[in-house]
Amino acid sequence: MSARNKTIIISNRLPVKITEQNGEYILRPSEGGLATGLGSVYKDGNNIWIGWPGIEVPPERQKEVTRKLAGLNLIPVFLTNEEINLYYEGFSNEVLWPVFHYLVTYANFDQTYWDFYQLVNDKFSEVVIQHIKDGDTIWVQDYQLLLLPCRIRTERPGVTIGFFQHIPFPSYEIFRLIPWREELIKGMLGADLLGFHTFDDVRHFLSAVSRLSSSKMDDNVIIYKNRHIVVEAFPMGIDYDKFEGLTQHAKVARYATAFKESQKDLKIILTIDRLDYSKGIIQRLQALELLLQLHPKYIEQAVLYMIVVPSRDTVPQYRELRDRIDQLVGNINSRFRTMNWVPVHYFYKSFSVEFLSALYSSSDICLVTPMRDGMNLVSKEYVASRTNNDGVLILSEMAGASKELNDALIVNPNNIGEIMRAIVQAIDMPLEEQTARMSSMRHIVKKFNINLWVKNFMDKLLEVKQLQQSMLTKYVAQSIKDQISKAYVATNDRYIFLDYDGTLVGFQGDIDKASPDQELYDIIARLSDDPANRVIIISGRRYETLEKWFGHLNLDMIAEHGAWQKQLNEEWKSLPLLTDKWKQDVKTVLDTYTDRTPGSFVEEKSYSLVWHYRKVEKGLGELRASEIVNHLRMVIADKGLQMMDGNKVIEFKNIEVNKGKAALNWLHNNNPDFILALGDDHTDEDIFKALPEDAYTIKVGSNISSARYYLRDYKEVRELLKTLTTYQEKTQANQERIQNRSAARRAEKPSLLRRIYRALTAR
Ligand code: UDP
Repeated sequence: MSARNKTIIISNRLPVKITEQNGEYILRPSEGGLATGLGSVYKDGNNIWIGWPGIEVPPERQKEVTRKLAGLNLIPVFLTNEEINLYYEGFSNEVLWPVFHYLVTYANFDQTYWDFYQLVNDKFSEVVIQHIKDGDTIWVQDYQLLLLPCRIRTERPGVTIGFFQHIPFPSYEIFRLIPWREELIKGMLGADLLGFHTFDDVRHFLSAVSRLSSSKMDDNVIIYKNRHIVVEAFPMGIDYDKFEGLTQHAKVARYATAFKESQKDLKIILTIDRLDYSKGIIQRLQALELLLQLHPKYIEQAVLYMIVVPSRDTVPQYRELRDRIDQLVGNINSRFRTMNWVPVHYFYKSFSVEFLSALYSSSDICLVTPMRDGMNLVSKEYVASRTNNDGVLILSEMAGASKELNDALIVNPNNIGEIMRAIVQAIDMPLEEQTARMSSMRHIVKKFNINLWVKNFMDKLLEVKQLQQSMLTKYVAQSIKDQISKAYVATNDRYIFLDYDGTLVGFQGDIDKASPDQELYDIIARLSDDPANRVIIISGRRYETLEKWFGHLNLDMIAEHGAWQKQLNEEWKSLPLLTDKWKQDVKTVLDTYTDRTPGSFVEEKSYSLVWHYRKVEKGLGELRASEIVNHLRMVIADKGLQMMDGNKVIEFKNIEVNKGKAALNWLHNNNPDFILALGDDHTDEDIFKALPEDAYTIKVGSNISSARYYLRDYKEVRELLKTLTTYQEKTQANQERIQNRSAARRAEKPSLLRRIYRALTAR
């Protein structure tokens, strides 16, 4: 990357707090983990961070604020209160937040929210476009800006865009409920790299993409609009050193000592959350209530410190939640309290980081039981603060952090009894076990800290861009087309191998519908009419089908991947020594799967059986295919068969049958000066690998291949083939014209000389 290229971070909020004091705007940088982690990026060189400054700034004062922010490498997107209400509080927090946290009944699919979400994403895009240059790298943060990657990509196709979502991505069955689901996916697919906290989020996103967009997928790589997009899990870490270091501060130590003394020998259970229905606060209180009811021995033995940070409490659902918490805490305390002891100490307020650190470092148990949480930082902050390697973390399996912190006591947050039992186990846990669990978790939180998270993401983004660029070089661009055309014209012994389905015609749900059309016949006829060309159709189709379609043309044909072969003007011959005795056994198995899988069918060829699942429900076909492969694994080995995984098909055939071997057979004792091979699936890879290096091998539909080049679809293949013949005709016509012209000039020459002679002698 050149030194002038910059990186732009974009998020809903800028990492700054702006307050107005006596008519002056005061800026205070925020200290959150994300701001710290990304500090190493946006504070460097000419890098910037773009976002909303957090307050409504009247138009006449926007220049002044912009100037002040510029000093911190920050660029504002000014939003009105109405925009914030409808785009942020509205669409982001009343549609995306509940749906992405699986609380669909809380969602309000208001059209105005959606209108404003689009409008504000456009506003962000306008600001970004003003500051961006080709070669720059952009990293968009979170669910408020899902449309932004596509907006930027449309305006600046060449830039590198990363996107990270800090909240969960739900299962497709949940996501599909959003009326604007396709637009959201399209928006996100503007990015080159999409990151989520967990592999589950990645799976859900890929599943939504496969159902809602016209893209191809290869594991976690999406090919969309001819761009490779990678989707990966990057579990976010915290600023470990800060939380570990805080425990050594004098102020923190003072708070901790005072706190410990006030609680004497009580086991302190700590919970810290923002007020949110996704956090499972009610269920946690119910678990405590159950504990005190079923195990009265813990009365005056344990205490719950519950901190709830005020949030969105103007929204009715949040207000209701707060009221329920008040009520439940009141019930528990009035029911179980004694003269010397109160079971729940509840604080509806936020605390300084020093006080939090004191709570973390002096609480015996940290209880983190969200119903859903993208990551959950509180759990990691607790671990980082346990410098003595003691303490017990109880963690919900629905929090992203549970995937890394599996030495915590993992619970299902809906299972009140299980949470209660985990609290009992935590209270009674021997120090040795605490130490073993905590030190292993501390090791993980320390290593996978916020800085490594930033580095991993940025490194991967660069890698994805390099992958895209290396792929781009393989596309048959005009210059490569010219090169192939020139080679074509300059040679007179050419072999042209053409696969059929997906290469010369598009894919059809019904395999019998993909018969050649007139345009294709014309193209093949023009190629094969040239005596310098040997055109070989090399397909997996039955030989009867190829004969019916192409028997009347001057072609060689290879059918069933090489099991049947036909040289020009000869009869069809099968490969010697092939047996089809295995077919009955395999067919019986395939038939049982076909009976259980609507839309699937078996195609029988002389030396192979194909199980088709193009029309089967998405996901089910793939599942059945892998079941079949497992089922037949032994049979394949025993009977000397091979299994090929194709485009929505799996095929079983004799091991000797192979398109690559068949193509080589054609070249045996021949030494053509031009070879072109085009194919689209796994079986064609054998041809690409078998042919000599200087052959023009071209993969169709994907650029992940051993072929030298690739084309996007069968239409581009047809264009290329037409170009070759047209180029040759033009070249011939040109040559003829040149020859004719020079002949004419030769004929004209004497008369010209005569004219000169006459002119000279006339003087
Ligand atoms: N937090 C805070 N002040 C408080 C209590 C908590 O700043 O009084 C911080 C806490 O340190 C943590 C964050 O709020 O970094 C909560 O992050 P988490 O991922 O647990 O939940 P979120 O609120 O992002 O859903």
